[in-house]
Amino acid sequence: MRARTELTGRVIFQGEPGYEEARKNWDPHTDRYPKVFVFARRTQDVANGIRWARENDIPIRARSGRHALEGNLSQVNGGIVIDVSDMNSIRLDKKNGTVVVGTGNRVGRIANALARQGFIAPFGDSPTVGIGGITLGGGIGPLQRTIGLISDNLIELEMVDANGDIIIANERQHSDLLWASRGGGGGNFGIYTRYKFSVRRAPVRATVYRIAWPWEQFEEVLMAWQRWAPSVNTRLGSELTIGPKRGGNVMMEGLFLGSRCEAVRLLRPITSIGTPTERLIRSLPYRQAVNFLLPPDPVLTQRYSNQFSSGFGREPFPRQALKPMREFLEQVEGEDAGFFFLNWGGAVSRVAPEATAFYWRDASFYVEWNSSWTVPSEAARNIEVVRKTRRKLQPYIVGSYINVPDQGIKDSGPVYYGANYSRLRQIKAKYDPRNVFRNPQSIKPAKRD
Ligand SMILES: Cc1cc2nc3c(=O)[nH]c(=O)nc-3n(C[C@H](O)[C@H](O)[C@H](O)COP(=O)(O)OP(=O)(O)OC[C@H]3O[C@@H](n4cnc5c(N)ncnc54)[C@H](O)[C@@H]3O)c2cc1C
Repeated sequence: MRARTELTGRVIFQGEPGYEEARKNWDPHTDRYPKVFVFARRTQDVANGIRWARENDIPIRARSGRHALEGNLSQVNGGIVIDVSDMNSIRLDKKNGTVVVGTGNRVGRIANALARQGFIAPFGDSPTVGIGGITLGGGIGPLQRTIGLISDNLIELEMVDANGDIIIANERQHSDLLWASRGGGGGNFGIYTRYKFSVRRAPVRATVYRIAWPWEQFEEVLMAWQRWAPSVNTRLGSELTIGPKRGGNVMMEGLFLGSRCEAVRLLRPITSIGTPTERLIRSLPYRQAVNFLLPPDPVLTQRYSNQFSSGFGREPFPRQALKPMREFLEQVEGEDAGFFFLNWGGAVSRVAPEATAFYWRDASFYVEWNSSWTVPSEAARNIEVVRKTRRKLQPYIVGSYINVPDQGIKDSGPVYYGANYSRLRQIKAKYDPRNVFRNPQSIKPAKRD
């Protein structure tokens, strides 16, 4: 039977001009050879893409900011990629404290646009991550202890379902879909085209900081950070990165929504550790503070492939956990390889685990680690070292963050979603019973009675 629906939007088939650029994700390891890319300009283009794919029996992937960290998530061989990145409007309603954004926006673009107008929007550590993907998985970053996860601020959404029908979800209608979209992860229920967030006034100034230590001091710094960061004033967000032994260092960055003087005092328990090689604590107009924390992160020229794994620490890592960390850091290479920690608590932990799909609320910190490579023949070795380290750290972590997935995790549903997994499966069965939107670790529809 001939397909009835025509593709609309900016359509690029394999072999046509623009195809090679279209298939470049941030991580080259996730690039695939889809049959066609549709760059949607409006919601109807998304609906047409989904209908066309179903009529032609072609697998579908949604894409926004191209920052997927595992394979077969935002691209698939022979499939259709419905890319929303041209849908990037931003409409701030100052009176009602809301912003409506196209899901094709990048996090940094929104954070900057709002900061220019005196409003605050949560962000992570890269300006080019797509709001489309990051929101659905949760959205963590240094402001989360004050204003929650990105998804905690989501109050309405527009999504195109597997039939090509447009659904608006908020607290009054399709509230189950809103619940599932706050942490249930991308690529599960449909293709999202618009988000509405609640926003609040930004402070006039904020204090940013960056403290660095020699790599050799990572154990001392981490032990102190774990005791300090989860309980420090909740207006202070702290990211701790520990690079590879070869060429890396220890760096703590973040911001405090308050004065420099108070920040200096709050940071003292950690700045007094070891012998820092850099010690920058600076009060900036809020807009400049955003720029400080979101340095450029170009997508098309990023050349490292990565394997990540992630989890949450409820208790500080004991001394025994530092051994596998050290072994890992001695083996890995690459600019961004290593460990990353982010402090938990405050607004994130005030929300009950079952209140949204994002379950891991009661942790002390988030942790991820990654190994990277540029030569494809080195992929297997690097992937294995990350997964081996997960096995060794398993006694000290719970769960895993769906936005930083690891396809080596078996039976991953409860690992990503804890006790929320069964409700997510029910909602999946309601909105996508035929499992049209699926990827290697997507939510399986609950079986009908
Ligand atoms: C350099 C870098 C820094 C990062 N920093 C942070 C951070 O600080 N905090 C944090 O929380 N996460 C961070 N992440 C992880 C990031 O949140 C995830 O990779 C996220 O999924 C990326 O979303 P995207 O839209 O850019 O990616 P894409 O590759 O476009 O999509 C990723 C996933 O989301 C799905 N998806 C995307 N758009 C839609 C849509 N419109 N509708 C339905 N599904 C969709 C895709 O199908 C895919 O499964 C970072 C990732 C990278 C590479």
